[in-house]
Amino acid sequence: MSVHTLFAPDGALSRHIDGFVARAPQLEMARAVEQAIGAHGRLLVEAGTGTGKTYAYLVPALASGQRIVISTGSKNLQEQLYHRDLPTIIGALDYARPVALLKGRSNYLCLERLHNLMSESHLQKAEVLADLVKVRSWSGTTTTGDVGDIPGLQENAEILAHITSTNDNCLGRDCPYYDDCHLVVARRRAMDAQVVVINHHLFFADLAVKDTGFGELVPEAQVYVFDEAHQLPEIATGYFGKSVSSRSLQDLAQDIQLAYRSEAQDMAQLGKAADRLQIASQDLRLAFGIESGRGNTRDMIKNSYWGQALARLTDALTLCYDVLKLALGRGERLDQCFERVSEIKGRLGEVLALNQTGCSYWFECSRLHFSLNLTPLSVAERFGAEVLRPEVSWIFTSATLTVDGHFAHFASELGLAGSAELVLDSPFDYSAQARLCVPRCLPEPNVFGRAEQLANMMIPLINRTPGGCFFLCTSHQAMRQVSEVLRREAGRTILMQGEDSKSRLLATFVENGHAVLVATASFWEGIDVRGAALSCVIIDKLPFASPDDPLLKARVEDCRLRGGDPFSDIQLPKAVIALKQGVGRLIRDRSDHGVLVICDPRLVNRAYGATFLKSLPAIPRTRELARLGDFFNQIPSQVEDVAC
Ligand code: SF4
Repeated sequence: MSVHTLFAPDGALSRHIDGFVARAPQLEMARAVEQAIGAHGRLLVEAGTGTGKTYAYLVPALASGQRIVISTGSKNLQEQLYHRDLPTIIGALDYARPVALLKGRSNYLCLERLHNLMSESHLQKAEVLADLVKVRSWSGTTTTGDVGDIPGLQENAEILAHITSTNDNCLGRDCPYYDDCHLVVARRRAMDAQVVVINHHLFFADLAVKDTGFGELVPEAQVYVFDEAHQLPEIATGYFGKSVSSRSLQDLAQDIQLAYRSEAQDMAQLGKAADRLQIASQDLRLAFGIESGRGNTRDMIKNSYWGQALARLTDALTLCYDVLKLALGRGERLDQCFERVSEIKGRLGEVLALNQTGCSYWFECSRLHFSLNLTPLSVAERFGAEVLRPEVSWIFTSATLTVDGHFAHFASELGLAGSAELVLDSPFDYSAQARLCVPRCLPEPNVFGRAEQLANMMIPLINRTPGGCFFLCTSHQAMRQVSEVLRREAGRTILMQGEDSKSRLLATFVENGHAVLVATASFWEGIDVRGAALSCVIIDKLPFASPDDPLLKARVEDCRLRGGDPFSDIQLPKAVIALKQGVGRLIRDRSDHGVLVICDPRLVNRAYGATFLKSLPAIPRTRELARLGDFFNQIPSQVEDVAC
């Protein structure tokens, strides 16, 4: 049945979904998706907020009768699609084929590792033991093994690393729990399904594994749909590179200890080798000498103190390798540890070779951990080859794919030149629903004390806002400084990112209705707060990536060598997409009203400001902060106007 019939006023969707009325842009998108699937083509669709893009791709995809993989940007969206939108369309279309949800390995309980943890529980910290009680009682009842369902367990609980597996430590077919393994069961279900919902991380993890010639995690499909597709280039880059992390080294050291105690107690040297690996990994973290951040490995290697710590780590790995080699054949755990040491040794060699062109060699540190990485500067060639598979259609959609109305940047990053394109504006009436202000007399972007000045400048507006407010910052430091001032001076509840989990912060924000949430990047996208609870979004600065980021630096350098202009080819498009995401938090519904304040004079006094402004929805602009208060006063009459 054609999408025209399905979306018609008396069609299947209207008959089965209460209050459903197809919107013109939604139907246009559905037709374009239908056409792309029919022609085994590639389609890029930017669908503005409120278009109804989820139904616009689900309906033609399911109606095509083909095997479909739908990939979303995050686990939350994956859940929402699988548990809410997909069942609605399945009901409306009377779709009878099997569907499945498949997540990455780290989401599933590993029975083997849970067993090991229980047998070593006397060695664990009190908080891990407390959580172990929750995990044990849940593990007997779960049917999916999804660790996100464990009642009362924090999202970042330490125990999660102990009860889930990684590619490195999974025993695969040698595992005594293989037949009952939750991950294996979920993958089998996905293999048998006609529609599989995954996320971008899993898609690229699968592609990276395929590159090594090993088995599939994600079934082959005839139609691939990527929602929130603007995230793909960044995520893809992470999977086509190589990495060695202190977590994987310490995990290996623990598993060697376990193998020593359970399969080779007469080899005391093995226990000592594992201890040395553990200590050497911690020492190398200390040798980075920074609290957290990223840097270029080429620069770090010149530091002799760091070089010595690295040498101790490679010696410790070599010792583990030599001792495990002597134990080969004595037990499965020992054999598996030997394979992992060999593999990590090889990978460490690659991330430290520093000689491949077209790559960036960089490190990242958090408070306790580090990773050493080798990342390709572009994934266009690899991904561009993937989408040439015959008889397969590819749909890429998001509310933010274009810069100044063009897909060129997105298409070039993923090797998608020559794809069909469609831009659908949001159906919201921005001229009535919103105002944009770039205030006069703003402090310049890099002056000392800027965040405090901005916070003070915004207090009158915040206090006049009838509902809640997001204050989105481009750095953690600015976020902390803004919060401090607002807590002191503004008469509102101030919430700050990092003080609670993201989901709890949002729930508190919505419940309060008048709070100010001060946040950085993780609140710029994927947040959907409707109504007056979010009436004002303040953005501290245009979101250009830090020029010190080693990956960006390498890309800039590479672009220059190829004769390009790094600012207009890389930095500007990325910042425009990020700003569009941040702005998109404000108006989420036809009845929403709100104001947007972008505190960056460059938007109006630099030539490139026009590119940002042309890429945003057509929101009436002002430079007077006071006018925003007038707008809030008019909202009730505008609501009535809209209702008429
Ligand atoms: S097969 Fe791998 S993931 Fe599954 S239980 Fe065994 S070790 Fe864990």
